[in-house]
Amino acid sequence: MMDGSSGSPPKEIVPGAPASPGIIDLASPDIGERERVLVDESLRSGWIAYGSFVDRFEENVSSYLGVRHAVALASGTAALHVALIVAGVRSDDEVPVSGLSFVAPANAIRYLGAWPVFIDAEPDHAQLDVEVLERFLADECTSHAGDLFNRRTGRRVAALLPVDILGHPADLDPILDLGSRYGLPIIEDAAEGLGAHYRGGPVGGKADIGCLSFNGNKIVTSGGGGMLVTNDANLADRARYLVTQAKDDPLEYVHGAIGFNYRLSNIHAALGCAQFERLEEFVSAKRAIAQLYEEGLREVPGVRLPREAAWAQSTYWLYTVEIDAADYGMGSRELLQRLVSDGIQARPLWQPLDRSPAHAGPTIGPCEVAYGLHQRCLSIPCSVSLRPEEQARVIGAIRRHARHLA
Ligand SMILES: *Cc1c(COP(=O)(O)O)cnc(C)c1O
Repeated sequence: MMDGSSGSPPKEIVPGAPASPGIIDLASPDIGERERVLVDESLRSGWIAYGSFVDRFEENVSSYLGVRHAVALASGTAALHVALIVAGVRSDDEVPVSGLSFVAPANAIRYLGAWPVFIDAEPDHAQLDVEVLERFLADECTSHAGDLFNRRTGRRVAALLPVDILGHPADLDPILDLGSRYGLPIIEDAAEGLGAHYRGGPVGGKADIGCLSFNGNKIVTSGGGGMLVTNDANLADRARYLVTQAKDDPLEYVHGAIGFNYRLSNIHAALGCAQFERLEEFVSAKRAIAQLYEEGLREVPGVRLPREAAWAQSTYWLYTVEIDAADYGMGSRELLQRLVSDGIQARPLWQPLDRSPAHAGPTIGPCEVAYGLHQRCLSIPCSVSLRPEEQARVIGAIRRHARHLA
C-alpha cells in the first residue's frame, strides 16, 4: 500500500509524495489552506473537467511570464509532445536536446517518430553546452532547399529543445540566435526552470514555445499538469485544438485531425492557481535553503556546491552537490547509502539519455561531461518546508562522513 494512508514510507522516492515521519524528504510539496479552499470551490462549482480555474491558471501564468498565450495541459510531457507537433517536427526528423535531463523531452520526441540528438552538458551549471550545439549545427549539418540536414544520418533537423535543469536556466540567448541563424524553432523545456530568472526576465516565456510542468515534485504543483506558452497565436490555437480532440464540429463529432485528450481538469487547475500564488514564497524558501547549505558545506573538501551563472537567478529547485571521491573520502553513491541510513533522502542525477536503454542511439559524440556529473552528483533535501534543524542534520551528516573532517 502506498496510498498515503498506510504508515510506512515507500522505499523509492516517489515524486510529490507527502513528507514521511522521521525521514528528511528530498522535496515534498507544501499544500496549505488556500489550496483546499480553491479545490473545494472547484468541486462545489460543478465544473469538474473544464471550468474557469483553467482560464485563471492560464492567465496567471501568462501574465507572470509576459507571454500572450498559455494552454493548460494534463502534464509537462503532454506540453512537450504538442509543442513538437505545432512546431512542425515530423516523423524521422531530428531534434537536438539536452543529454543530461529527465527523460520526458526525449520521450516526447520519440512519440512523433522523430529522433533526439543528445547534446552534452557544460560543467559549470550542468546545462546544455551551447558550444557543442553550435559545433553540431555548423560542422555536422548542411542546408538544402531551406531545411537543415544532419550530414551523417541524412535526417532533417527540425527544432532545438534546450532543457533548464535543477532550477537553473540554460543559456537561452545564444540558442535563440542559433535558431534564427538556422531557421529552427526553439522549444524550451522549462519544467524545472519556473521561478528562475534569465538575464533579468522570468524563465519560460522567451523561446518560440515554452513547456512547464506542475507535477507533484515541481516548484508549483497542480497534482499533475503542464502548460504550453507562446507568443504566437497560430501555434496556441493549433495546440488548443489538438489537445481537445481536434473538434471541427463538436455537435456532429467532426474531427479534422488526430487529436488528444490532454486538457487540464478544473480541479487540478484550482490547485495550480492556489500554488501559483505562492511561487515567490517557494522560490524564497528554496533560495534560503541554498544559502544555509552554502554556509554549512562550503568548506567541506570534495563537496562542490551549485553556483549561479552571472546571467542567472536560480530557484535551486533541486539542490544538487557534486562529490569528488578522492577529496571527500567516498563517492556519491556511498554517501547516498550513508545518508539513507541516517534517514535522509538523497538522489543521483538522471542517467545521461544517450546511455538510457530506451534512448541509446543517435548522439553527437559521447556526453562525457554528463557522465561525470551523473557519477558525482547527489540531490539533497530541499523541500520548501524543510526546517532549519532538519537542514542542520543534513549538513551535519555530510560533514561527518567527510574523511578530512571526521
Ligand atoms: C518533470 C519534467 C517534465 C515532465 O513533466 P510531467 O508533468 O511530469 O509530465 C519534463 N521535463 C523536465 C525537465 C522535467 O523535470
